Amino acid sequence: MAKLQAIRGMNDILPQQSLSWQYLETVFQQVVRRCGYQEIRFPVLEHTELFKRSIGEVTDIVEKEMYSFDDRNGDNLSLRPEGTAGCVRAADQHGLLYNQQQRLWYAGPMFRHERPQKGRYRQFHQFGVEAFGMAGPDIDAEILQLSASLWQELDLGEYLTLEINNIGSAEDRKRYSIALSEFLQLRVDQLDEDARQRMHTNPLRVLDSKSLQVQEALQGCPQLESFVNDESRQHYQQLQALLGSAGIEFRENPRLVRGLDYYNFCVYEWTTDTLGAQGAVCGGGRYDSLVEMLGGKATLAAGFAIGVERLVLMLESLDKIPAEARQPIDIYLLAVGDNLGQQSLQLAQLLRAHYPQLGIVSHCGGGKYNSQLKRAFNSGARLAVVLERDEPGKELLGNVKIRRLDDSAESETVEITEIIPKLAEFL
Ligand code: ATP
Ligand code: MG
Repeated sequence: MAKLQAIRGMNDILPQQSLSWQYLETVFQQVVRRCGYQEIRFPVLEHTELFKRSIGEVTDIVEKEMYSFDDRNGDNLSLRPEGTAGCVRAADQHGLLYNQQQRLWYAGPMFRHERPQKGRYRQFHQFGVEAFGMAGPDIDAEILQLSASLWQELDLGEYLTLEINNIGSAEDRKRYSIALSEFLQLRVDQLDEDARQRMHTNPLRVLDSKSLQVQEALQGCPQLESFVNDESRQHYQQLQALLGSAGIEFRENPRLVRGLDYYNFCVYEWTTDTLGAQGAVCGGGRYDSLVEMLGGKATLAAGFAIGVERLVLMLESLDKIPAEARQPIDIYLLAVGDNLGQQSLQLAQLLRAHYPQLGIVSHCGGGKYNSQLKRAFNSGARLAVVLERDEPGKELLGNVKIRRLDDSAESETVEITEIIPKLAEFL
């Protein structure tokens, strides 16, 4: 029978790669914890309506990318394409937003039916933070500082650039969209099909078209900047001042509009040129009207989402995973001879009790010394500890051998009672 394969664009993360993921997860959790953010978990499935109302009907995500289906009750559900909508739904449903301030984070798989390529998948993962009840721009600066700290902790700071833009209110963008649409209609010959369609449905999205021809057609187009309201402008200026004093460098990108409708005021993206075409690793901004759009009481809000796969790709290609994070097993325990099961189990537990931070594997399944040693090497452990009975039926020797699993092959045989202090010398 033919073997079944995974769905295209949905990756298995194998044990070796999981180490990179775990490293990244640990660092992320440390950074958000330090800033007082608390985890929220919400389902991967929600009513499709939630995403339509929040992300917007006329966006790539909702129009083309969602995994939606009717369940057995006939309810139309979708796999979440991003985290903010579900986070807001959950926080509001459980009364976390009413007259309160919240600093939340989440992590997990997201689903978008896109064309799979390097850094772009159909199941991918995001880390996100969302802050509620704060007007900013101090909270916006805090969130950007949090992301900058994360890059620093991961030693990726020099490879990432922050781009920011002021997109005003939904009202401002509506007026701007009309002006931009009029401008584009005069240059329709220079637009590709995508841009021609968006020119009517969501003209702002034409701004971040990847086509050079479209970018050329945009030369001299009306600028969003001249449509945004004073409050938004002030917010943006204050944010820039805060970023400056925090030593966070940024570049203003007037074409940055982001693909989701719910943003207002400042939006931003962290990008890298180390990944090829898929250069955005983190995107976010303010979304002060979203809670109300979803039926809650108006609540100030801001947040970002990070693409985990893209960060893992960066960490791996730039060789930024620390050696200790790549070491799942430290000690491999060999047991050579018959009936050593009990002693072997006991010794393994003794070692684990003394070195709870180490990974200690006890060989199972018997076999000769050489074949066990080969497994020890393959395990990636640094040390082998050999429990040996020299002849079948004889008493267990009172000695164990410690052997380095490297070219030095340094080894020493010690009394079993001395194993703990001796191991400390080898580690
Ligand atoms: P892009 O411009 O690359 O399509 P986006 O604007 O659609 O990104 P967001 O919705 O802002 O992405 O999501 C935040 C982050 O999630 C992105 O910056 C990116 O790192 C990551 N991301 C988005 N879509 C995918 C995907 N299909 N596969 C892998 N990562 C993704
Ligand atoms: Mg996208």
